[in-house]
Amino acid sequence: MRQFTCFLKKNAPKKCSTSFHCLKKGAKIEYLFIYLRKGIKMTLKIPLKYRPPLYFIILYLLLVSTSGFCTTVRYIITPNLQENALDIELIFPGNDPSHYYILPSWTKKPFPEITDIKARVEESRSKKKKSSDKEAKDVIVTYRLKTPNHQLQQDQRDEEFEIDHTHFRFTGSHLIIPSKINWKKNIAIKIEWKGIPAEWVIANSFDIHQTSQTLITSLSSLQTALFVGGEFDVFRWSREESTPYVVVKKSDKLSGESLLPLLQGIVESQRTFWNDYHFPHSIMAIFPTTAQHPFHAQAHRNAFIAFLPPFVDNEYQWASISQVLAHEYFHTWVPYKMMPEVPPDFDSLSWFSEGFVDYYSILLNYRAHILSPTQCINEINRVLYAYYTSPFRNVNNARLAQERYSGSMAMRLLPYQRGCLLALLWDAKIQQKTNGANTLDNVMLLLLQMTQDTGKPYSQAMIEELVGIYIGAQTAANDLQAHIIEGKTLVPPELLFGKKTSIRWMEDVGFQLIETKATGYIQGIEKERGAYKAGLRNGQVFRKIHRSENGMYHVAIIERGVERLISFPADGKDPIPQYVVPTD
Ligand SMILES: [Zn+2]
Repeated sequence: MRQFTCFLKKNAPKKCSTSFHCLKKGAKIEYLFIYLRKGIKMTLKIPLKYRPPLYFIILYLLLVSTSGFCTTVRYIITPNLQENALDIELIFPGNDPSHYYILPSWTKKPFPEITDIKARVEESRSKKKKSSDKEAKDVIVTYRLKTPNHQLQQDQRDEEFEIDHTHFRFTGSHLIIPSKINWKKNIAIKIEWKGIPAEWVIANSFDIHQTSQTLITSLSSLQTALFVGGEFDVFRWSREESTPYVVVKKSDKLSGESLLPLLQGIVESQRTFWNDYHFPHSIMAIFPTTAQHPFHAQAHRNAFIAFLPPFVDNEYQWASISQVLAHEYFHTWVPYKMMPEVPPDFDSLSWFSEGFVDYYSILLNYRAHILSPTQCINEINRVLYAYYTSPFRNVNNARLAQERYSGSMAMRLLPYQRGCLLALLWDAKIQQKTNGANTLDNVMLLLLQMTQDTGKPYSQAMIEELVGIYIGAQTAANDLQAHIIEGKTLVPPELLFGKKTSIRWMEDVGFQLIETKATGYIQGIEKERGAYKAGLRNGQVFRKIHRSENGMYHVAIIERGVERLISFPADGKDPIPQYVVPTD
């Protein structure tokens, strides 16, 4: 377990004076002030990758000149184990107890788990109070986070919040925020933890094992943070500062240690891809799957949370886990590092923020040999299958953006499929057009650079412009217009992962044929289709499928050890393109 080497201004080791990656802790900032005041030339001492952006230096000077942070928001968080709740106290300067927001930024409904809100005004508790602000007051908002009686199913949010006597997890959107503070501006945010059981681990997007944290960040970035605490095991594959903490819920079923080589492979391949190694802190929180929390994952700022099955008993499951973890980790850059704040049209960019992430999680797992070439082709084939059988395949992007969170799961997943296939198409076109000298990688790296240089989040125009450099502005614009904006069907190119690959057009049989063949069990049966009507059901043991001359399918399944044939007429819609896996 790592010990922090630079705590407070007293006796702080010398390296603190040059460690700008310590900036997130207020205590360290104070320490830095001393060095700055002594006139040490920062630019000579700080390696380029740790050099702070100009706005940080300006913020510093402002803070020094006004002797301290203008605004401090404090959260005091105490687990209440009798009630299976977290009691939270929010304290900020002000004299109007109505000046706070409950609603998280992205939903119109208040979270039902935020209860018992009370607000009052008190004399300021600040020790820095000066004679001139004797009248200084604080608003104190107290509330309780508690699992409501009914399950939290809206927008899959149940993965974001849970508390019982062994652990808790919540996100920054569960923190009520002051309404009079510009929530895009960096301020000092203090988080204190009280009454944490001695054996509990606490970790969040900013640090681990800290019961008092001062962050210099904005309230909007706080909203995207992850907080976990409880009976966890903590693992790392190296003691280097940039190595993430793998925080695994203690369970007889899940072996956190066995996940380390996979996580290390994913992290190293993606950091190498971006040539980005500056990670002051990140956590990967892993929970075992339960009936209520099936296999899934979600990314947060400097963090992700994943619910993983305890045993991996087939190659298909292993590929899915590798893909999901790689996908969540790729969100470190898309959107988080490339999107300092969430733009109003964020939902209309989900084809990029999710689909390109899906493409790169497959491609980088392929390059890093985390998955075999066959497994990677199967992953792309799964995307093609889902896209070609989606009832919403030709829905336009405006409707998709609007209904992303209210529509069905097939609707919600469409941007992933569409974006992944557009990335695949553009990757092939760029390679063809430049005779292999460039790939989509060049676009991704330029986009990171562009967003960091301008401080602006990525946009459709930026992506189109960069792709246009390689395939021509008109082609880039046409592709976007057709396959994303209008939702016209995209036909996959023959070039896959830089190699010419043939495509076979497969019939749509009324259930997920690829996953069925991969797992040996009938999967993804569609009601209303011939297969279902003839008696085929999810979970039946699959043996083989055959199509006879008269247009009938015959599926052999095993029931109680005996083979049974289920026959139904072919009622498929469009055939589905599938890359042919080389047989060598
Ligand atoms: Zn995602």
